Order: sequence, then C-alpha cells, then structure tokens
Amino acid sequence: MENLTAEAKELISLINSQKTMCAMLAPSFPVVFKYPELIGMLRRLGFDKVVEVSRGAEETNKQLLALTHLHPERKYITSPCPTIVRLIRNKYPHLAQYLSPIDSPMSATAKLVEKQWPKKFKKVFIGPCLLKKLEAKEDCPKLNILAVTFKDLQDIFLEKEIEARITDKLSRFDVIAHDTRLYPISGGLSQSSGVINKYLDPEYDVISGPVLAEKVLNEFLKKPELKILDILNCEGGCINGPGLISQDSLDLRRQKIINYWSKR
Ligand code: SF4
Repeated sequence: MENLTAEAKELISLINSQKTMCAMLAPSFPVVFKYPELIGMLRRLGFDKVVEVSRGAEETNKQLLALTHLHPERKYITSPCPTIVRLIRNKYPHLAQYLSPIDSPMSATAKLVEKQWPKKFKKVFIGPCLLKKLEAKEDCPKLNILAVTFKDLQDIFLEKEIEARITDKLSRFDVIAHDTRLYPISGGLSQSSGVINKYLDPEYDVISGPVLAEKVLNEFLKKPELKILDILNCEGGCINGPGLISQDSLDLRRQKIINYWSKR
C-alpha cells in the first residue's frame, strides 16, 4: 500500500467506500491486459460500468472534422496528448492558437458518461499516460475525473487479490467503439477520422516521439501547406506510454491493438 501512487490510493478508498463508479478504459489496454477478462476483473473490483474511451475518441474525431469543415484555411495541431499540449503551452506558446479546441477522448468519454447516467457514477479514467492525471485536474476539473495508470490498476489488482477467472470471459463493455480502437497507435487519429482521405500528403503529417515532436513544432509555421499535425509525444503512440509496463516490442504492441480493432 505504501508504494501506491496518490491516485491509486484514492481509487482504493473509493472501492472501500463502495462508491458507484464507471471505469473509462483507454484504447491501449490490450497491450497490457486480456479482453474480455479485464472487464470482469474491473467489475469484481467494484466498477458498476466499464466503457471504452475509444467511444469518446469518436466525438473527438467528429469535433476535429467539424472544425476543418468550418475553417478549411486554418492549420491545426491535434490536442489529445496532454504532454504535447503542455510542451506547446510552456515552450512554444506562439503555437497554442493552433491547438485544436476540442475534447480529448478522455473528456469526451466523461461527458458521454454524464449524459447517459447523469450524476450517477464517479468517473475513473484508466490509461497508459501519467499526464492524463494533470489533464483531469487542470484542463477539465468540472468533469471530476480520477485518472490512474494501467500500472496503478495492476498494483490495485495485486492489493485486492483480484485475478482473472473463467467467468470473466463472459464480461463485456457497457459502451463500445469501433474504428477509434486504433487511436493509441501513432496515426490512429488521422486514420480513424478520415483525415488521411480528406487531405493530400503535404497537407497533414503524423509524428510521434519527443525528439521528432520538437523538430516538427519548430518547422510548423514554415510549412504553409501543412493543415493538420497529428502528434503524440510517446514514440509509436500511447502504446508506449509511461504508465504501462510491457516487455513487448512496439511492433507486437501495435499488432495487439490491430487484433483487438479487427474484432469490431
Ligand atoms: S502519447 Fe504518451 S504522453 Fe501522449 S497521451 Fe499518449 S501516453 Fe500520454
């Protein structure tokens, strides 16, 4: 218990007080966990509902496409990655005006949960990202989201002695998504939103990794033809986030996401 993060301790306290809760599961979960066993384990941990954050990503895509439709002449930098958002705010403030003013998949999912079950559940985001903890507190505090990492969840499963059971194979999500299950792979936003069909090659760019991110941000205003920069801070995308532990190669992680996406 001493080694748990503050957010993991908060979640344990919610579980112990039998708070009604909704788990919002980030789309990179197949890198670390088995489906559908994970859903059953979450329910036995105390979650009343379990929803795919990929469903919120569908809203993110819709909002981005609506913006590009409304302002075809403008340039946009995608904003679902809180590390990139903070890098721009702190180091490239002149580019902040280009960040797409849309919901991230996490905040869009939280809004969907609120709409479907008004004021019923404590919303808990579970994902691969440390900075989502800051996004939840700083960027969308009114949504009252507790953000934890996959590593936090594994620690809590250990603490609560929750292991997969054969009956967990019968568990299913309460809210599902489809094409946006590709979101955690670099380029998943462009592919699932249709940006790759709408724009020509020089008009959009897909990049990931901190070194390349800085290079491309430095060049962003020098490329007038570039309209959409689909950018994630972790090399390869969220499948390589700091809040997940995996010995798998990036290729194998990518394949796990594609396998899960192909079940849609
Ligand atoms: S790319 Fe990395 S830092 Fe960005 S949202 Fe994904 S896990 Fe978080």
